[in-house]
Parts: sequence; structure tokens; C-alpha cells
Amino acid sequence: EETKVAIIGAGVAGLTLATFLQKSGVPCVVLERRNRTYVEVRQRAGVVEARGVEMFERWGLADKLLAGPVAQTIDYRVNGVGRIFDIGDEGDAQSRFCTQQMLVNNLLRELIDAMAGDVRFEVADVVITNEADRRPSVAYSDAGGHHEIVCGFIVGCDADRGVSRASIPYGILTRYVHEFGYAWMAALVEAPVTGDPIMAVSDHGFVGQLPRGPQRSRYYLQCALTDTAEDWPEKRIWDEIRLRLNDDTIQNAVVHNIDFVPLRSVVYAPMQYGNLFLTGDAAHMVPPASAKGMNMALYDVDVLAQALLDAVRNQDRRTLDSYTDTCLPRIWNYQDFAVWMTDTMHDAGNPAQQGTFRQMTARSRLNNLFASPAAARLHGEYQRGTN
Ligand code: FAD
Repeated sequence: EETKVAIIGAGVAGLTLATFLQKSGVPCVVLERRNRTYVEVRQRAGVVEARGVEMFERWGLADKLLAGPVAQTIDYRVNGVGRIFDIGDEGDAQSRFCTQQMLVNNLLRELIDAMAGDVRFEVADVVITNEADRRPSVAYSDAGGHHEIVCGFIVGCDADRGVSRASIPYGILTRYVHEFGYAWMAALVEAPVTGDPIMAVSDHGFVGQLPRGPQRSRYYLQCALTDTAEDWPEKRIWDEIRLRLNDDTIQNAVVHNIDFVPLRSVVYAPMQYGNLFLTGDAAHMVPPASAKGMNMALYDVDVLAQALLDAVRNQDRRTLDSYTDTCLPRIWNYQDFAVWMTDTMHDAGNPAQQGTFRQMTARSRLNNLFASPAAARLHGEYQRGTN
């Protein structure tokens, strides 16, 4: 069996890339280890930044894939006192509240149901062959047996624990990593955000409340790296939310699930080896404080889809060969933004974190977003993803 592009992973990166290629008439196959339902119900990010909206518009897919209101404001709170930050609106496209789950579901419908794209779920034992003297290929097993797909290019969209990056020989990649030393407890709850999305620092630690569809929101609570579900019974979750938001009127609601996310930033470079290319979480990760992980994955896909089209249609590999060099400056810029957001939100909070000196400088930094038009403009550019 042959195809042009074999894509490992049907997350937001793999499905977006496959949709762009399929729409452009480039044959591709997506291999996913989970079943379709699992992929459909996975809930993570909540906003497609303005740059991502512009990308979907450019590929003629925004109307089909994106839904939800414009995401224009953030309520930054210090000890219960909030100020509304407007992210601005240079350019035509505006950021949209569109959950990752909704985007992935729309991509599945568009790719599989409308365009007859080839996504194979519940595959196992994916093995990549990517050697200079052989045509690239991907072998895998499923309920029907063992298969091999010979292809022109392989794209690793299988996130941090996938097989793609692991297939690259030792010594090729450099791993750049920063550990923040604390974690977030992420609780998906049956309670909508009634005003603006909230990012709140308090003397008791960080709490954020971000919309996840019309009925639900995700609360993030700073916690220790060693915390587990046993440390966070429902009563403590709601007590801490009320304490950190300094708001006794908040009512308990159904908690659907909780997750623990150690805050960590990682970049692997280069993002390619031979005919294998890495995108999204397979190549880099940011802490969720920046809300950029999904958006950075979409950026990689935008660059790579165009480069693959050049290579397949015009036999011109130049944009493909410079894929890493094109992507990395933006990735480092947004890694820096993620460090800024994470440090500011946590240092400004509980002084046990970094001490009172850092608490006061971080609060001053936050204040600048409202006192300095230059600081506000730069922050708006980062939030929209347009710089
Ligand atoms: P994924 O979406 O993880 O997709 C990878 C796919 O590969 C999966 O379907 C997986 O099953 C499959 N796979 C893995 N291994 C194999 C294998 N061996 N064979 C075949 N398939 C395989 N980002 C934001 O922009 N904003 C946010 O607010 C935000 N909040 C987040 C909250 C949480 C709790 C988490 C966990 C993440 C959040 N992110 C956010 C980050 C965002 O979800 C990720 O950056 C994004 O999912 C990366 O997309 P991806 O396609 O690279 O990886």
C-alpha cells in the first residue's frame, strides 16, 4: 500500500494537517491508537487565537470548523479585585472561544464524513522506517492484522509520548527543558463562566476559570507537584476556589474530572529528520497558563502543510528543508510568553512561592498591562498570536 503522507496521531495537529492535505488533493493516511469516540470526547484547550482563525480562513475552512463567540477579554484579578484586559483587534481575524473538543469533532466530520479522508483508529505497534537509502514507510497492526504503508513523508503528530520523536536516532535532537517546580490541578466543572475568563492571583495561590463550551468551565488551581486526587476532594476544590477568588457566593457544582498538569516547558530541535517531521506536542510543550499549546500546534501545521504541497506538487523541497528554521523563532517567542505568564501568575500570588520581593515585582508587571499602552499592546499581540 502507498500514500504520499503518513500522519501518526489524530489529535488537533494530525487532523488539521490531514484536512488541509485532503482538501488540496494530496493523498494521506492518519494512524491513531485510540478509537474515534475517545478522540471525540477528549477536552483540553478552549480558544483558537486570531492567528489560527486567520489560518483556517485562508484554507477556506473557518466557517465549517470554528464556532463560538469572539474571545476578546481577560479578567486579571489580584486578591479578588478584577480588571478587564482587552486583547485588541489589529487585523481582520479575532480569537474565538472554540474548544479543542469542538474543533476536533468538526475536523473529524469534515475529513472523514465529508471528504472521505482515511483515518484509521485503534492501530498499535506503529514502526517508522526513515532511512536515507530506503523509501519511508510506516508499519502497524490492527484487528485485521499487520500492515505497511510506503509513503513520501511521515509526520509525527503523536504528542509527547508517541513513537515518532522516539524513532529519531540518539544524538540528533537537542532537548531544551524548563521545570517550574509546581503543578496545576485542572477541574472540568458543570458551571459556565458567567463573565470574562478569569486569571486570578491571590495570597493563597493561583486560580483560573476558563470557558469550555456554554455549560462548562475549567478551573485551574496551582498545587504541589506531588498532589494526587486524594489531596483534592470536591469540598477542598470549592473551598479553595472561593478562597482564592475571595468570593463566598460561588456555589459548588458537578466536577466531571480532575487532572494534574506538572508545569513544564520543552522544545526539541530540529523538528525534522530525513523524511520525518514533528508537529505540536511531539516537538514542544508549554504550560497551560499561556493557553498556547494547541495554537502552536496549529502554527506548525500551517507551515508544514504548505511545505508538503510544494514538495508534492512542484517537487520543490526547499520549504520542507527549512521547516524547523521557519517554526523555531515563533516557538521560542511563545515559550518566552509562556514563561512570562506562568512566572507572573505564580510569583504574584502566594509569597511562599518565590518570596515577597518577587511577589511585588510580578504584581507590578501585571499592573503594567493596565498602566502602559506599550505593555498592553505587546500582551495583546501575544494573546492574539499575531507577533
Ligand atoms: P494531541 O492532541 O495530544 O494528539 C496526539 C494524538 O496522537 C492523540 O490522539 C494520541 O492518541 C495519538 N497517539 C499518541 N501515540 C500514538 C501512537 N504511538 N500511535 C498512534 N497514535 C498515537 N492548549 C491551548 O492552546 N490552550 C489551552 O487552554 C490548553 N489547555 C490545556 C489543558 C489541558 C488539561 C491539557 C492537557 C492541554 C492543554 N492545552 C492547551 C494543550 C493542547 O491540548 C495541546 O498542546 C494539543 O493537544 C497538542 O496537539 P497535538 O495534536 O500535538 O497532540
